[in-house]
Amino acid sequence: MSNPAEKSLKLTRVKCCVCESNDAKRVGAGEDFEYRTSPDTFQAVQCNSCGLVYLNPRPDVSEFETIYPPTYHAFDFSEKDFGIVYKIRSRLEAKRLLSWCKDLPDDARILDVGCGDGFHLNLLKNYGKKSWTLEGVDIDKRAAAMAEKLGLKVYLGSVETLDLPKDAYDLAFMIQTIEHLEKPFEILSVVKGMLKTGGKLVIVTDNTGSLDFKLFKSGYWGGYHFPRHWNLFNQNSLTKLAEKVGFEIADLTTQVSPVNWVYSIHNALVDWKKPRWLINQFTLKSAVSLSVFSSLDIILQKFGKGALLRAILQKP
Ligand SMILES: [Zn+2]
Repeated sequence: MSNPAEKSLKLTRVKCCVCESNDAKRVGAGEDFEYRTSPDTFQAVQCNSCGLVYLNPRPDVSEFETIYPPTYHAFDFSEKDFGIVYKIRSRLEAKRLLSWCKDLPDDARILDVGCGDGFHLNLLKNYGKKSWTLEGVDIDKRAAAMAEKLGLKVYLGSVETLDLPKDAYDLAFMIQTIEHLEKPFEILSVVKGMLKTGGKLVIVTDNTGSLDFKLFKSGYWGGYHFPRHWNLFNQNSLTKLAEKVGFEIADLTTQVSPVNWVYSIHNALVDWKKPRWLINQFTLKSAVSLSVFSSLDIILQKFGKGALLRAILQKP
């Protein structure tokens, strides 16, 4: 971990991206506990109308390179660095991905929006049908370069500017992507245009209807990922957004994840200036804490309170 950056970020004030309202209350505040890319304290607010939690003010888009440093984990989730955690997560994620793909035809075209280093596409390449066409989009050239190294087809840029084919894809997914977006409504609208009629978009994102949010929302909640998660959803706000775009909701449920639990504790320990050896027990590399909180979240998920939200949206 690097020393804290000294320069404050350029910030922009925004409205709720679902109802375009300014009527929101402050729910929490915190710092970039993970990467220390700026000395700022950031504020999360919750829309009084739809329940969306959003960062306000948030970094200007010109700060993208600062808030996503080269050490950012989405750019290098490798077996070499993550060992057993990589193996277990790969197996679980492959199972989940294939469950969304079970009705796809042999000639299906699949798009991963915000594919990062190609982790999910690579799982489909290894465990899915060889006849599927797999494509990814990512705005970051470091991530796209890593995905290309795996032999994946990746478009560098954003779906709204890339001019990808319309009515062409059977399935798209956005796994832990929507919370990073500047304009979720616009991106979802473009993705809907790219899907075939009856095609599906699977969204997986942090759940603000979870117990971990309730306990840690005043500042340490891992899902804030200050200042990189700009829009955070619960079932109500995600439903409203999907319906506004014109999707039908085929399924909306919660999914097990230990990550926000582990990072909520990590962030508290960092803020309390606890020793590094202790903080290191609560990261993406700590198999013990990840497995303990997975077990807890499995129970919560049974009550519809898992740490992640998962929506399967269909183009009518
Ligand atoms: Zn709202």
